[in-house]
Amino acid sequence: MSITRRGFFGAAAGLSALALAGKSALEIQPPQSEPDRGAPAAGTRWALVIDPRKCLDAGDCTKCLDACHKAHNVPAIAEPAHEVKWIWKASFEHAFPSLQTDYPPDDLRDKPVMVLCNHCDNPPCVRVCPTQATWRRDDGIVMMDWHRCIGCRYCVAACPYGSRSFNWQDPRPSLVQTNPNFPTRSKGVVEKCTLCEERLAKGEPPACVEACPAKALVFGNLNDPASEVRSLLRARFTIRRRPELGTRPAIYYIV
Ligand code: SF4
Repeated sequence: MSITRRGFFGAAAGLSALALAGKSALEIQPPQSEPDRGAPAAGTRWALVIDPRKCLDAGDCTKCLDACHKAHNVPAIAEPAHEVKWIWKASFEHAFPSLQTDYPPDDLRDKPVMVLCNHCDNPPCVRVCPTQATWRRDDGIVMMDWHRCIGCRYCVAACPYGSRSFNWQDPRPSLVQTNPNFPTRSKGVVEKCTLCEERLAKGEPPACVEACPAKALVFGNLNDPASEVRSLLRARFTIRRRPELGTRPAIYYIV
């Protein structure tokens, strides 16, 4: 489906009307039904379980980040306001601002954890996109089509995790090296992690998972009770980022 300029401005007018009515267009709505995570379900629901302590044991390691950004032609732009990132480190307190404790574990307090797009079950970024340049697949991956993106940045504003980057400048001159097997982007489009859907299609794990020397990132199918992610979720206490928002992230953290 294509969108005309008139159609886009019509959608923008609708959003303004909602704002005038006192309803935020970016308001996060709860999912219609809660999937039963305890029962086997049809199909695949991809997820990641991250163990921050294993990550910390590897010191200043950035192998997952480097592998991701190299595989996906993510530019190295030093200026924070123009930075593009698919996976990055955030402090524990920043990643989990709503954790209801004044006493986070000593070994995690003030320490960095890897963060990325959460591939939410209920993604507000998808709801606000006027051109359907971003959408949620049946396996849970929240995708991007850079050719459909018109650079309105509604999705950037809607994502409560800062998981989307906007190309304020042509990213190509800032590429350290170019992977010819993955598209480069242009100025004026939004980008983010797509859980290496191109590698999954070939039966390969995400680049970050493969590159991690500490095995701190475990990837798998939430709908398969025998998967390693489900085993970890059964055995370990995990948290997700900002659960109060109802976005239902598919990235879990062992604490
Ligand atoms: Fe969208 Fe942000 Fe959720 Fe990723 S983390 S699916 S960009 S709302």
